[in-house]
Amino acid sequence: MPPKKKATATKKKTTKVVKKTTKKAPAKKTVAKAKPAAKKAVSPKKRAVKTPQSLRGMRDLLPKDAQLWKNMFHTAENIAESYGFARLQTPLVEEAGLFVKSIGKGTDIVDKEMYLFEFEGLKLALQPEMTAVTVRSFINHGMHVDPQPVKMWYWSPMYRHDRPQAGRYRQFYQFGAEVFGEKSPVMDAEVISTAYHYIKDLGIDAQVKINSIGTLEDRQNYLVELVGYLRSKRSYLSEESKKRINKNPLRILDSKDEGDRMVIEDAPQIIDWLSEDSKNYFMKIIEYLDELEIPYVLDPTLVRGLDYYTDTVFEIFYETPDEENKMKELALGGGGRYDGLVEMLGGQPTDGCGFSVGVDRVALVLKQKMHEEGPGEPEKCVYIAHLGDQANRRALRIIEDLRKGGIQVKHNLAKASLKGQLEQASKFGCSHTFILGQKEVQDGTIIVRDMDSGSQETIDQKKIGKEITKILS
Ligand code: AMP
Repeated sequence: MPPKKKATATKKKTTKVVKKTTKKAPAKKTVAKAKPAAKKAVSPKKRAVKTPQSLRGMRDLLPKDAQLWKNMFHTAENIAESYGFARLQTPLVEEAGLFVKSIGKGTDIVDKEMYLFEFEGLKLALQPEMTAVTVRSFINHGMHVDPQPVKMWYWSPMYRHDRPQAGRYRQFYQFGAEVFGEKSPVMDAEVISTAYHYIKDLGIDAQVKINSIGTLEDRQNYLVELVGYLRSKRSYLSEESKKRINKNPLRILDSKDEGDRMVIEDAPQIIDWLSEDSKNYFMKIIEYLDELEIPYVLDPTLVRGLDYYTDTVFEIFYETPDEENKMKELALGGGGRYDGLVEMLGGQPTDGCGFSVGVDRVALVLKQKMHEEGPGEPEKCVYIAHLGDQANRRALRIIEDLRKGGIQVKHNLAKASLKGQLEQASKFGCSHTFILGQKEVQDGTIIVRDMDSGSQETIDQKKIGKEITKILS
C-alpha cells in the first residue's frame, strides 16, 4: 500500500510541473514572469471598482442619526394615536393616474416632479404625497361604512424629482394624518393641532399660517377676478408666473420672486370672494385655535396650489437664518380640507381633512438646535465586558436574559481584549462596565466598574438586572 501512495504523490507532482510547463514555457522565464503578474492582479489600480453612489437628492439615514429619527417616529406615533388616528401603510408605487386626477395638471408635482415609469403596460409613479393614496385606500376598502370619522396616520417616504438643496430631497419622509367623514371646524382645528403639537413636542417653536380658499364655486368666481388682474400686470411677472396665468393662476400667489410679490400684494384676495358659510366656517376654526393657544398668522395669499383643497388651507413654518443670516421661513408641514376628493376619485361623497409634515426638515431644525444648544444629556448606558471563553458564553446568556427583561446593554462579544472592551465602553460614554472573568463565572458574581472613578465592586450575578436598572434610572 505505501508504495502506491508514493506513486500517486509523484504523479500529482508531475502533473503540476507539466501544467506549469505547458502554460508558460520556458520554465525559467515563467517563474520570473509569474510573480510580477500575480502582484499586478492585486495592485490598487487594477482592482479599482467604481462604487455605486446613492442617487442625487436621495440619502442614507445613518446610524449616528438613528436616535433622532427614532424620537421623531415615536413622537409621531404617540401624538397620532393619542388623537385617535390608526396607522395606514400602503405601497410606495401607485398608478400615476391617481396623482394626476387628484393633485391636478398644472401643478409642479404632476408636471415636473413625479418619478414615472411603465411596467406591464401600466403607467406607474413613486408616490409624491399620500393624501391621494389614503383616499384610494379609503375607497378600495369601503371605509365609508366604518364608524365615522375614519382617522388614519402615515409615515412614509415620498418621491419628487425637484432640484435638490438643503431641506429639499428627492426622497423624503412625511408624517401625516387624515380624517374622513366629518365636516366640522373642530375637526380642522384638531388636524392643525396634531401637526402643530407634533412639532412643538419635539421642541420646535413653529407658527401656523392659515387661509380659506372657499368652495370650488367661490374659487371659480375669484379666479375670474384674479386672472383678469394678473393679465393686466403680466409684464411685471416672472417668466414662470407668466406661464402659470392660464395653467394654475393660484400658484402665482405662492411665488417667492420679488417682482411677483409686488404684484401679489395688490392682487384681489380670496377671502373677499368667500360665501357666508365658508367665512363662518373659517372664523370658527380661528376661534378653536385661539382656545388651543396655537400661534397663527392669517395669510390671504396662502393657497397650497393643489386642485383638491377646499376651504381650509394651512402651513406650519419655522423661522431660521439663511446662508446670509437673513431670516427665512422653512415650511415644515401643510395641509387642509379636501371635501370633494373622495368623490373625485370615484368614492361616495365624503368630507376629508389632513396634514403632512416633512420629517427631514424637522430633523434639520432639530440638528441645528442641537448644534446651537449643545448635545444635551447623553443617553445613559452600561457595558458588559468578558474575559476568556467561558465568560464569553456566560455574557451571551446574561445579555439575552437582560434583553428579555427589557434592559439594553452595550457589548462586543467578538472583542477578546478586556482593555479594548473598556476603551469601547468609554467611547460609548457608559458610566459603568460589568466585567465577567473566569473567576466570576465560577463564583456566580460579576465586577461592576465605575468608569469615572475606576472603583470596582463585586455583586451576585442574580442582581445584575436590578443594578443596571438603578444605574440607568
Ligand atoms: P407639501 O404638501 O408639498 O407642502 O409638503 C408637506 C411638507 O413636506 C413640506 O412642508 C415640507 O416640510 C416637506 N417637503 C415637501 N417637499 C419636500 C422635499 N422635496 N424635500 C424635503 N421635504 C419636503
